[in-house]
Amino acid sequence: MGSGDHGTAGPATAALSRYAGVPFTDDDATIARYLEDLSVPTLLLSMVHMTGDASILRRPLRPAGVWLNEVQGYMSAEDQAAVRAEALGVIAAFRDGGCVVPPPPGPEVVREMMSFLLATDVPEEYVPMLLEELELDGVDRRADDWGGAATEAARAAFPVVVIGAGMSGVLAGIRLGQAGIPYTIVEKNPRVGGTWYENRYPGCRVDVGNHFYCYSFAPDNEWTEFFSQAPELQSYFERSAQHYGVVDHIRFDTEVQGARWDDATGRWSVTVRGPGGAPEQLDAAALVSAVGQLNRPKLPDIPGRESFAGVAMHSAQWIDGTDLRGKRVAVIGTGASAFQIVPAIAPDVAQLTVFQRSAQWMFPNPHYHDTVGPGVPWAIRHLPFYGRWFRFLLFWPACDGGMAAMRIDPDYPHQDRAVSEINDAAREVFTAWMAEQVGDDPELLAKVVPDYVCLGKRTLQDNGSWLGALTRDNVELVTDGIREIIPEGVVDGTGRLHEVDVIVYATGFLANLYLWPMEIVGRGGVVLREQWGDRPTALLGITVPNFPNLFCLYGPGTNLAHGGSMIFHAECQVRYVMSALATLVRQPPGSSLEVTAAAHDRYNERLQAELATMIWSHPSITNSWYRNDEGRVYILSPWRLVDYWAWTRAPDPDDFELTVR
Ligand code: NAP
Repeated sequence: MGSGDHGTAGPATAALSRYAGVPFTDDDATIARYLEDLSVPTLLLSMVHMTGDASILRRPLRPAGVWLNEVQGYMSAEDQAAVRAEALGVIAAFRDGGCVVPPPPGPEVVREMMSFLLATDVPEEYVPMLLEELELDGVDRRADDWGGAATEAARAAFPVVVIGAGMSGVLAGIRLGQAGIPYTIVEKNPRVGGTWYENRYPGCRVDVGNHFYCYSFAPDNEWTEFFSQAPELQSYFERSAQHYGVVDHIRFDTEVQGARWDDATGRWSVTVRGPGGAPEQLDAAALVSAVGQLNRPKLPDIPGRESFAGVAMHSAQWIDGTDLRGKRVAVIGTGASAFQIVPAIAPDVAQLTVFQRSAQWMFPNPHYHDTVGPGVPWAIRHLPFYGRWFRFLLFWPACDGGMAAMRIDPDYPHQDRAVSEINDAAREVFTAWMAEQVGDDPELLAKVVPDYVCLGKRTLQDNGSWLGALTRDNVELVTDGIREIIPEGVVDGTGRLHEVDVIVYATGFLANLYLWPMEIVGRGGVVLREQWGDRPTALLGITVPNFPNLFCLYGPGTNLAHGGSMIFHAECQVRYVMSALATLVRQPPGSSLEVTAAAHDRYNERLQAELATMIWSHPSITNSWYRNDEGRVYILSPWRLVDYWAWTRAPDPDDFELTVR
């Protein structure tokens, strides 16, 4: 995708794969410099591709382990240097030979390469998913479920409306376009990107490594940081939308107000309001919701909030151009958004007061703010399959392994502080990380170490910048609660007034209100919001009884709190939706597919039973957006990625009623 892409394979490699690399002529000294930027275990695998010599995998020079964001496999500095020296010779010979890539390794060797990189035997059940994710042959298998199923006329008569042009909506557009289905994406913002367009607060960045946090079939090679900031992410999705021709299908500055299913015609009528202001109806054979989950700001119910005389804004409604230099600023909240805002603005403001209701658990990621050296894009562009294996190295540690520390072991004796032995061990590591930074300030340490089980709420990635900010002279952490807001500032629970010029509400989102405030009316006039109430449910988070031909992306029960990436999940969901649409488009116009109540209920019983084994509703957690008002979890996925991937390869016909006109 785009000019900075991994590149189109050159003549020497064209028969192999689009990831086999572009021929190069760089000199040895330049290459040696580039090698310093690389992941050595990943480099070793690229060397296997360059030489065709699998014996590289059978030597003592190998990674010793794998962990989230640890890309050197715990290899010693000496071993890394030895590999780099050897790699220089291999790469130079490859270059001098015209960059001819030997035939690809066979399946057994690829399997061996996986286990080598991950320093563990990859379980058999994961191999098909990993091979698909790895996409070494350059074939995007998540795109090919249609099998030439429908005529052009049938496709043309099957318009689809997608709500939202964020990460999931653009993906849906890409797949619909590839399938030759006419579609319109309705987007309330003036640009593509969803959350990455809306969240423009200082310091906003992703916390999944970017070489994995991008579409599997559209790797990007323009990241300047390993965990990029919002503008780069927005740009990636915008460039993706342009590259795949999606952008021509988007109606910007247009909001969906509601949608009504018409039993008589078997179509959705979607009410939209665009820049002109007048409501308009769009006709749709199927409706795809790609509205995300964290985009309706939640403002706190603090007395006097409206009376504040200064500038007030929610983190997701940052006022462009706000100059905080020399200002007195209050940040209310200490969740993921505040965690990024506070370190970013602390050096500029005169005084920063952070109001913390609950302390947050954080885990160490020293690389969180690292920039990408020039060797990385060079290697992704030129070294055979370097980029694919690097992506894989980021994917695996976030894939299902972390769930063990979130599963409740009812026999664990110290339930007051942890849900299992491994959860307790994580607590100790996280606590030590904080003590290491502020152990000399027991009062602050007591305030910042949470009093609830770790990993039960969103755990934050930290490179020391949060506590570093809190220990600045111009920053104060207030843990006394908030009594009220008055024109001059914030009055804390002890009655002390903190006079400020600006209040930033980093207070989160209305996460349990899916598709809110739209009015979605299904079969027989059933209103979705009423059917769901505070307990949103959907089969696999995608389909809902009484709502034929409606498909949700990032729907109920699909938020990932245990690992993975929302892009991986979205690719699973879109594949499932496209498979359902392939069934529908072959039927006469007006036909519909609706999940049966029995299948939906069965699934949700299983989902709730599984969620009950997980940490997220542990009683020590008093506030969490993972839970609804009655304290129950509906929005998270308790499933292993490998299971969700398998279940979403295609809809099970037994789960649906197909009404053919
Ligand atoms: P959040 O996690 O819901 O945090 C809201 C914060 O506001 C919490 O500290 C909460 O305290 C506090 N709060 C809420 N109401 C309050 C009140 N009435 N008085 C005082 N404090 C109050 O929201 P967020 O930080 O915007 O993050 C939401 C989610 O967005 C994240 O969990 C994550 O999934 C996503 N996100 C991701 C990134 C990233 O990828 N790096 C960045 C930002 C956001 P309690 O803790 O006591 O509830």
